[in-house]
Amino acid sequence: MHALLGGFYPRVHRTLQREVVSEHSLLFTWPGSDPSLGPVLLAGHMDVVPVDPASASRWIQPPFSGAIADGFIWGRGTLDNKMTVMGVLEAVEALIGQGFTPRRTMYFAFGHDEEVGGIRGAKEIAALLTSRNINLDIVVDEGLPITEGVMDGVADPLAVVGVAEKGLLTIELVASTESGHSSVPLRETAISVLAAAVHRLQDNPMPGSVDGVLHDMLAFAGPEMPFSRRMVMANLWLFGPLVEFLLAGVPGTDAFLRTTTAATIFSAGNKDNVVPSVARSVVNFRLKPGDTIEAVLDHVRAVIDDSRIEITTLDGWEASKVTDPYSPSFRMVQRTIGQAIPRTVVVPGLVLGATDARHYESLADHVYRLSPTRLGPADVDRIHGVNERIAVHSYLEVVQFYAQLIRNLNSDPQ
Ligand SMILES: [Zn+2]
Repeated sequence: MHALLGGFYPRVHRTLQREVVSEHSLLFTWPGSDPSLGPVLLAGHMDVVPVDPASASRWIQPPFSGAIADGFIWGRGTLDNKMTVMGVLEAVEALIGQGFTPRRTMYFAFGHDEEVGGIRGAKEIAALLTSRNINLDIVVDEGLPITEGVMDGVADPLAVVGVAEKGLLTIELVASTESGHSSVPLRETAISVLAAAVHRLQDNPMPGSVDGVLHDMLAFAGPEMPFSRRMVMANLWLFGPLVEFLLAGVPGTDAFLRTTTAATIFSAGNKDNVVPSVARSVVNFRLKPGDTIEAVLDHVRAVIDDSRIEITTLDGWEASKVTDPYSPSFRMVQRTIGQAIPRTVVVPGLVLGATDARHYESLADHVYRLSPTRLGPADVDRIHGVNERIAVHSYLEVVQFYAQLIRNLNSDPQ
Protein backbone atom coordinates (compact mmCIF):
# COMPACT_ATOMS: atom_id res chain seq x y z
CA MET A 1 0.00 0.00 0.00
CA HIS A 2 2.78 2.43 0.93
CA ALA A 3 4.67 1.63 -2.29
CA LEU A 4 1.50 2.07 -4.30
CA LEU A 5 0.91 5.52 -2.80
CA GLY A 6 4.51 6.49 -3.54
CA GLY A 7 4.03 5.56 -7.18
CA PHE A 8 0.65 7.27 -7.53
CA TYR A 9 1.56 10.53 -5.82
CA PRO A 10 5.22 11.39 -6.56
CA ARG A 11 4.86 15.14 -5.92
CA VAL A 12 3.30 14.49 -2.51
CA HIS A 13 6.18 12.24 -1.59
CA ARG A 14 8.78 14.74 -2.84
CA THR A 15 7.20 17.81 -1.22
CA LEU A 16 5.72 16.62 2.07
CA GLN A 17 7.42 15.07 5.06
CA ARG A 18 6.31 11.45 5.42
CA GLU A 19 6.48 9.47 8.65
CA VAL A 20 5.51 5.87 9.32
CA VAL A 21 3.86 5.35 12.69
CA SER A 22 3.39 1.92 14.31
CA GLU A 23 4.82 0.24 11.18
CA HIS A 24 1.77 0.82 8.97
CA SER A 25 0.11 4.18 9.62
CA LEU A 26 1.20 7.28 7.70
CA LEU A 27 1.56 10.90 8.74
CA PHE A 28 2.29 13.50 6.06
CA THR A 29 3.27 17.05 7.02
CA TRP A 30 2.98 19.99 4.63
CA PRO A 31 4.56 22.97 6.36
CA GLY A 32 2.63 26.23 6.20
CA SER A 33 4.14 29.62 5.42
CA ASP A 34 2.35 31.49 8.24
CA PRO A 35 3.20 30.12 11.70
CA SER A 36 0.56 32.35 13.30
CA LEU A 37 -2.21 30.17 11.79
CA GLY A 38 -3.18 26.97 13.60
CA PRO A 39 -2.45 23.68 11.84
CA VAL A 40 -5.14 21.44 10.38
CA LEU A 41 -5.31 17.66 10.20
CA LEU A 42 -7.23 15.66 7.63
CA ALA A 43 -7.68 12.04 8.69
CA GLY A 44 -8.62 8.82 6.93
CA HIS A 45 -7.87 5.15 7.32
CA MET A 46 -6.24 2.58 5.06
CA ASP A 47 -7.56 -0.59 6.71
CA VAL A 48 -10.82 -2.21 5.67
CA VAL A 49 -13.20 -4.76 7.12
CA PRO A 50 -12.87 -8.30 5.75
CA VAL A 51 -15.01 -9.78 3.01
CA ASP A 52 -17.39 -12.34 4.46
CA PRO A 53 -16.52 -15.62 2.65
CA ALA A 54 -20.21 -16.58 2.64
CA SER A 55 -21.05 -13.58 0.47
CA ALA A 56 -17.88 -13.42 -1.64
CA SER A 57 -19.59 -15.02 -4.63
CA ARG A 58 -22.20 -12.23 -4.69
CA TRP A 59 -19.60 -9.60 -5.60
CA ILE A 60 -20.07 -8.48 -9.20
CA GLN A 61 -16.38 -7.61 -9.35
CA PRO A 62 -13.77 -9.36 -7.17
CA PRO A 63 -13.73 -7.47 -3.83
CA PHE A 64 -10.02 -6.65 -3.92
CA SER A 65 -9.76 -5.97 -7.66
CA GLY A 66 -10.35 -2.23 -7.65
CA ALA A 67 -12.01 -2.83 -11.01
CA ILE A 68 -13.37 0.20 -12.85
CA ALA A 69 -16.52 -0.88 -14.67
CA ASP A 70 -20.00 0.44 -15.41
CA GLY A 71 -19.11 3.90 -14.11
CA PHE A 72 -17.96 2.64 -10.70
CA ILE A 73 -14.74 1.80 -8.88
CA TRP A 74 -15.44 -1.54 -7.21
CA GLY A 75 -13.94 -3.08 -4.13
CA ARG A 76 -13.77 -3.37 -0.38
CA GLY A 77 -12.74 0.00 1.02
CA THR A 78 -13.74 2.16 -1.93
CA LEU A 79 -16.19 3.97 0.39
CA ASP A 80 -14.78 3.09 3.79
CA ASN A 81 -12.29 4.68 3.62
CA LYS A 82 -9.84 4.56 0.74
CA MET A 83 -11.79 7.32 -0.97
CA THR A 84 -10.60 9.72 1.74
CA VAL A 85 -7.00 8.52 1.70
CA MET A 86 -6.75 8.59 -2.10
CA GLY A 87 -9.00 11.63 -2.43
CA VAL A 88 -6.84 13.73 -0.10
CA LEU A 89 -3.58 12.61 -1.73
CA GLU A 90 -5.00 13.13 -5.23
CA ALA A 91 -6.05 16.66 -4.23
CA VAL A 92 -2.64 17.49 -2.74
CA GLU A 93 -0.87 16.05 -5.79
CA ALA A 94 -2.95 18.34 -8.03
CA LEU A 95 -2.48 21.39 -5.79
CA ILE A 96 1.30 20.95 -5.77
CA GLY A 97 1.17 20.72 -9.57
CA GLN A 98 -0.69 24.04 -9.63
CA GLY A 99 2.03 25.66 -7.52
CA PHE A 100 -0.14 25.91 -4.41
CA THR A 101 1.55 26.18 -1.01
CA PRO A 102 -0.40 26.20 2.27
CA ARG A 103 -0.36 29.07 4.76
CA ARG A 104 -1.26 26.74 7.61
CA THR A 105 0.68 23.59 8.32
CA MET A 106 -1.40 20.70 6.99
CA TYR A 107 -1.22 17.19 8.45
CA PHE A 108 -2.63 14.18 6.62
CA ALA A 109 -2.99 11.21 8.94
CA PHE A 110 -3.92 7.77 7.62
CA GLY A 111 -4.38 5.08 10.24
CA HIS A 112 -4.16 1.35 9.65
CA ASP A 113 -6.47 -0.03 12.35
CA GLU A 114 -9.55 2.20 12.53
CA GLU A 115 -11.90 -0.75 12.12
CA VAL A 116 -10.51 -2.28 15.31
CA GLY A 117 -10.32 0.91 17.35
CA GLY A 118 -7.39 2.92 15.98
CA ILE A 119 -5.29 2.16 19.04
CA ARG A 120 -2.01 1.59 17.21
CA GLY A 121 -2.70 4.01 14.35
CA ALA A 122 -4.59 7.23 15.04
CA LYS A 123 -3.98 7.06 18.77
CA GLU A 124 -0.23 6.79 18.25
CA ILE A 125 -0.23 9.56 15.65
CA ALA A 126 -2.08 11.75 18.14
CA ALA A 127 0.48 10.86 20.81
CA LEU A 128 3.29 11.81 18.44
CA LEU A 129 1.70 15.20 17.73
CA THR A 130 1.09 15.72 21.44
CA SER A 131 4.75 15.01 22.19
CA ARG A 132 5.59 17.81 19.75
CA ASN A 133 3.21 20.20 21.54
CA ILE A 134 1.08 20.59 18.44
CA ASN A 135 -2.36 22.07 18.87
CA LEU A 136 -4.65 21.54 15.92
CA ASP A 137 -7.15 24.15 14.92
CA ILE A 138 -9.38 21.84 12.85
CA VAL A 139 -9.62 18.09 12.26
CA VAL A 140 -11.69 16.62 9.42
CA ASP A 141 -12.18 12.85 9.48
CA GLU A 142 -14.55 10.39 7.83
CA GLY A 143 -18.20 10.45 8.84
CA LEU A 144 -21.61 10.12 7.30
CA PRO A 145 -21.92 10.12 3.51
CA ILE A 146 -23.98 12.67 1.62
CA THR A 147 -27.34 11.04 1.02
CA GLU A 148 -29.45 11.50 -2.06
CA GLY A 149 -32.91 10.34 -2.92
CA VAL A 150 -33.48 9.32 0.66
CA MET A 151 -36.57 11.45 1.01
CA ASP A 152 -39.46 11.33 -1.41
CA GLY A 153 -39.74 14.60 -3.29
CA VAL A 154 -36.48 16.02 -1.95
CA ALA A 155 -33.94 16.11 -4.74
CA ASP A 156 -31.16 18.05 -3.04
CA PRO A 157 -28.31 16.09 -1.47
CA LEU A 158 -28.13 16.18 2.33
CA ALA A 159 -24.84 16.29 4.24
CA VAL A 160 -24.89 15.56 7.96
CA VAL A 161 -21.55 16.80 9.26
CA GLY A 162 -20.65 15.04 12.50
CA VAL A 163 -19.87 17.61 15.19
CA ALA A 164 -19.80 14.92 17.87
CA GLU A 165 -19.72 11.18 18.22
CA LYS A 166 -21.10 8.86 20.81
CA GLY A 167 -19.04 7.17 23.48
CA LEU A 168 -19.15 3.51 24.40
CA LEU A 169 -19.46 1.44 27.54
CA THR A 170 -19.50 -2.35 27.62
CA ILE A 171 -20.27 -4.08 30.89
CA GLU A 172 -20.47 -7.70 31.94
CA LEU A 173 -23.17 -8.91 34.32
CA VAL A 174 -22.64 -12.16 36.16
CA ALA A 175 -25.46 -13.61 38.25
CA SER A 176 -24.57 -16.29 40.78
CA THR A 177 -27.04 -18.46 42.66
CA GLU A 178 -27.16 -22.03 43.90
CA SER A 179 -27.22 -24.72 41.25
CA GLY A 180 -29.44 -27.74 41.38
CA HIS A 181 -31.34 -30.42 39.57
CA SER A 182 -34.00 -29.25 37.18
CA SER A 183 -36.52 -31.61 38.79
CA VAL A 184 -36.49 -29.55 42.00
CA PRO A 185 -35.73 -26.04 40.76
CA LEU A 186 -35.38 -23.06 43.03
CA ARG A 187 -37.85 -20.26 42.68
CA GLU A 188 -35.08 -18.03 41.28
CA THR A 189 -32.13 -19.26 39.25
CA ALA A 190 -29.06 -17.52 37.87
CA ILE A 191 -30.84 -17.39 34.53
CA SER A 192 -34.04 -15.85 35.85
CA VAL A 193 -32.17 -13.36 38.06
CA LEU A 194 -30.01 -12.21 35.16
CA ALA A 195 -32.87 -12.16 32.66
CA ALA A 196 -34.87 -9.94 35.00
CA ALA A 197 -31.91 -7.59 35.45
CA VAL A 198 -31.32 -7.27 31.70
CA HIS A 199 -35.02 -6.72 31.20
CA ARG A 200 -34.98 -3.92 33.79
CA LEU A 201 -32.01 -2.30 32.03
CA GLN A 202 -33.76 -2.37 28.67
CA ASP A 203 -36.95 -1.02 30.20
CA ASN A 204 -35.17 1.82 31.98
CA PRO A 205 -32.75 3.47 29.58
CA MET A 206 -30.90 6.67 30.34
CA PRO A 207 -33.18 9.66 29.89
CA GLY A 208 -33.34 11.16 26.41
CA SER A 209 -34.22 14.61 25.16
CA VAL A 210 -34.12 16.84 22.12
CA ASP A 211 -31.16 18.96 23.11
CA GLY A 212 -27.55 19.55 22.12
CA VAL A 213 -26.56 18.14 18.74
CA LEU A 214 -30.03 16.83 17.94
CA HIS A 215 -31.52 20.23 18.59
CA ASP A 216 -28.94 21.91 16.34
CA MET A 217 -29.51 19.32 13.64
CA LEU A 218 -33.22 20.00 13.59
CA ALA A 219 -32.65 23.75 13.79
CA PHE A 220 -30.44 23.62 10.67
CA ALA A 221 -32.65 21.14 8.80
CA GLY A 222 -36.02 22.65 9.62
CA PRO A 223 -36.05 25.60 7.24
CA GLU A 224 -34.46 23.57 4.42
CA MET A 225 -36.44 20.38 4.28
CA PRO A 226 -40.12 19.84 3.60
CA PHE A 227 -40.25 16.95 6.05
CA SER A 228 -43.58 15.19 5.98
CA ARG A 229 -45.15 11.82 6.41
CA ARG A 230 -44.83 11.29 2.68
CA MET A 231 -41.17 10.61 3.11
CA VAL A 232 -40.31 7.13 1.99
CA MET A 233 -37.21 5.81 3.63
CA ALA A 234 -34.91 3.04 2.60
CA ASN A 235 -33.27 0.94 5.29
CA LEU A 236 -30.49 3.37 6.01
CA TRP A 237 -28.70 2.15 9.09
CA LEU A 238 -27.12 5.49 9.73
CA PHE A 239 -29.74 7.91 8.56
CA GLY A 240 -32.98 6.20 9.36
CA PRO A 241 -33.12 7.14 13.02
CA LEU A 242 -33.12 10.87 12.25
CA VAL A 243 -36.06 10.62 9.94
CA GLU A 244 -37.84 8.18 12.20
CA PHE A 245 -37.56 10.77 14.88
CA LEU A 246 -39.37 13.20 12.64
CA LEU A 247 -42.04 10.62 11.98
CA ALA A 248 -43.54 10.86 15.43
CA GLY A 249 -44.30 7.64 17.21
CA VAL A 250 -42.04 5.41 15.14
CA PRO A 251 -39.51 3.53 17.27
CA GLY A 252 -35.80 3.72 16.49
CA THR A 253 -35.20 7.34 17.33
CA ASP A 254 -33.51 6.44 20.57
CA ALA A 255 -30.00 6.45 19.18
CA PHE A 256 -30.15 10.21 18.58
CA LEU A 257 -32.16 10.98 21.68
CA ARG A 258 -30.30 9.15 24.38
CA THR A 259 -27.60 6.78 25.53
CA THR A 260 -28.75 3.45 24.12
CA THR A 261 -28.79 0.10 25.92
CA ALA A 262 -28.24 -3.16 24.02
CA ALA A 263 -27.75 -6.60 25.54
CA THR A 264 -25.40 -8.31 23.10
CA ILE A 265 -24.36 -11.56 24.79
CA PHE A 266 -26.34 -13.85 27.08
CA SER A 267 -25.07 -17.22 28.13
CA ALA A 268 -25.78 -19.85 30.79
CA GLY A 269 -26.20 -23.55 31.18
CA ASN A 270 -24.93 -26.52 29.18
CA LYS A 271 -27.15 -29.44 30.12
CA ASP A 272 -30.90 -29.77 29.84
CA ASN A 273 -31.46 -31.14 33.37
CA VAL A 274 -29.01 -29.00 35.34
CA VAL A 275 -29.92 -25.56 36.63
CA PRO A 276 -26.74 -23.50 36.19
CA SER A 277 -25.37 -21.53 39.12
CA VAL A 278 -23.91 -18.80 36.94
CA ALA A 279 -25.35 -16.77 34.07
CA ARG A 280 -23.48 -14.11 32.14
CA SER A 281 -24.57 -11.24 29.95
CA VAL A 282 -22.78 -8.42 28.16
CA VAL A 283 -24.52 -5.10 27.70
CA ASN A 284 -23.31 -2.39 25.34
CA PHE A 285 -24.18 1.27 25.83
CA ARG A 286 -23.56 4.06 23.31
CA LEU A 287 -23.16 7.27 25.22
CA LYS A 288 -24.79 10.47 24.18
CA PRO A 289 -22.61 13.57 24.62
CA GLY A 290 -23.36 14.82 28.11
CA ASP A 291 -23.75 11.35 29.67
CA THR A 292 -20.55 10.14 31.33
CA ILE A 293 -19.44 6.54 31.86
CA GLU A 294 -19.72 7.11 35.61
CA ALA A 295 -23.29 8.37 35.28
CA VAL A 296 -24.26 5.33 33.21
CA LEU A 297 -22.66 2.96 35.74
CA ASP A 298 -24.52 4.70 38.58
CA HIS A 299 -27.71 4.29 36.59
CA VAL A 300 -26.99 0.59 35.94
CA ARG A 301 -26.32 -0.13 39.60
CA ALA A 302 -29.51 1.67 40.65
CA VAL A 303 -31.65 -0.12 38.07
CA ILE A 304 -30.24 -3.60 38.70
CA ASP A 305 -30.16 -3.22 42.50
CA ASP A 306 -29.41 -6.90 43.08
CA SER A 307 -26.42 -8.04 45.14
CA ARG A 308 -26.39 -11.43 43.37
CA ILE A 309 -25.22 -9.70 40.20
CA GLU A 310 -21.64 -8.62 39.78
CA ILE A 311 -21.08 -5.72 37.39
CA THR A 312 -17.73 -5.37 35.62
CA THR A 313 -16.65 -2.80 33.04
CA LEU A 314 -15.10 -4.47 29.98
CA ASP A 315 -14.46 -1.47 27.73
CA GLY A 316 -15.40 2.13 27.36
CA TRP A 317 -14.67 5.65 26.27
CA GLU A 318 -16.51 8.88 26.88
CA ALA A 319 -18.65 10.59 24.24
CA SER A 320 -16.78 13.24 22.29
CA LYS A 321 -17.01 16.91 22.98
CA VAL A 322 -19.32 18.84 20.66
CA THR A 323 -17.94 21.23 18.06
CA ASP A 324 -19.97 24.44 17.83
CA PRO A 325 -21.93 24.35 14.54
CA TYR A 326 -22.25 28.13 14.67
CA SER A 327 -18.45 28.56 14.47
CA PRO A 328 -16.71 30.06 11.41
CA SER A 329 -15.02 26.73 10.67
CA PHE A 330 -18.39 24.95 10.42
CA ARG A 331 -19.50 27.59 7.94
CA MET A 332 -16.27 27.01 6.02
CA VAL A 333 -16.98 23.25 5.84
CA GLN A 334 -20.56 24.03 4.82
CA ARG A 335 -19.35 26.37 2.07
CA THR A 336 -16.80 23.83 0.84
CA ILE A 337 -19.43 21.09 0.49
CA GLY A 338 -21.58 23.50 -1.52
CA GLN A 339 -18.68 24.30 -3.82
CA ALA A 340 -17.86 20.63 -4.50
CA ILE A 341 -21.43 19.34 -4.56
CA PRO A 342 -23.77 22.22 -5.39
CA ARG A 343 -27.17 22.59 -3.70
CA THR A 344 -26.25 20.28 -0.84
CA VAL A 345 -28.14 21.00 2.37
CA VAL A 346 -25.62 20.87 5.23
CA VAL A 347 -26.64 20.20 8.83
CA PRO A 348 -24.64 19.30 11.95
CA GLY A 349 -25.23 15.86 13.41
CA LEU A 350 -24.22 13.15 15.81
CA VAL A 351 -22.14 10.19 14.59
CA LEU A 352 -23.50 7.06 16.24
CA GLY A 353 -20.47 4.84 15.63
CA ALA A 354 -16.84 5.43 16.53
CA THR A 355 -14.21 7.00 14.27
CA ASP A 356 -10.49 7.73 14.52
CA ALA A 357 -11.45 11.37 15.14
CA ARG A 358 -11.90 10.68 18.83
CA HIS A 359 -8.16 10.09 19.19
CA TYR A 360 -7.40 13.60 17.89
CA GLU A 361 -10.05 15.33 19.94
CA SER A 362 -7.78 16.38 22.80
CA LEU A 363 -5.47 18.13 20.31
CA ALA A 364 -8.12 19.98 18.36
CA ASP A 365 -10.52 22.87 18.84
CA HIS A 366 -12.90 21.87 16.03
CA VAL A 367 -13.54 18.30 14.86
CA TYR A 368 -15.73 17.46 11.87
CA ARG A 369 -16.69 14.05 10.54
CA LEU A 370 -17.86 13.73 6.96
CA SER A 371 -17.48 11.41 3.99
CA PRO A 372 -17.96 13.74 1.02
CA THR A 373 -19.47 11.21 -1.34
CA ARG A 374 -23.03 10.96 -2.59
CA LEU A 375 -24.84 7.74 -1.81
CA GLY A 376 -28.31 6.73 -2.88
CA PRO A 377 -30.69 4.69 -0.72
CA ALA A 378 -29.41 1.40 -2.15
CA ASP A 379 -25.75 2.24 -1.65
CA VAL A 380 -25.41 2.71 2.09
CA ASP A 381 -25.60 -1.01 2.83
CA ARG A 382 -22.55 -1.52 0.63
CA ILE A 383 -20.38 -0.01 3.37
CA HIS A 384 -19.05 -3.10 5.19
CA GLY A 385 -21.35 -5.08 2.87
CA VAL A 386 -21.38 -6.71 -0.54
CA ASN A 387 -20.43 -4.88 -3.75
CA GLU A 388 -18.90 -1.84 -2.08
CA ARG A 389 -18.23 0.69 -4.82
CA ILE A 390 -17.96 4.39 -5.54
CA ALA A 391 -19.21 6.09 -8.69
CA VAL A 392 -16.35 7.54 -10.72
CA HIS A 393 -18.10 10.93 -10.83
CA SER A 394 -18.58 10.81 -7.03
CA TYR A 395 -14.91 10.10 -6.54
CA LEU A 396 -14.10 13.15 -8.66
CA GLU A 397 -16.29 15.20 -6.32
CA VAL A 398 -14.42 13.73 -3.35
CA VAL A 399 -11.13 14.93 -4.81
CA GLN A 400 -12.65 18.32 -5.60
CA PHE A 401 -14.00 18.58 -2.06
CA TYR A 402 -10.60 17.97 -0.47
CA ALA A 403 -8.81 20.31 -2.89
CA GLN A 404 -11.38 23.01 -2.18
CA LEU A 405 -11.19 22.33 1.55
CA ILE A 406 -7.41 22.76 1.53
CA ARG A 407 -7.78 25.98 -0.47
CA ASN A 408 -10.48 27.36 1.83
CA LEU A 409 -8.53 26.41 4.95
CA ASN A 410 -5.63 28.45 3.62
CA SER A 411 -7.51 31.48 2.37
CA ASP A 412 -8.88 33.85 5.00
CA PRO A 413 -8.23 32.69 8.56
CA GLN A 414 -11.14 30.61 9.86
ZN1 LIG B 1 -14.25 3.95 8.24
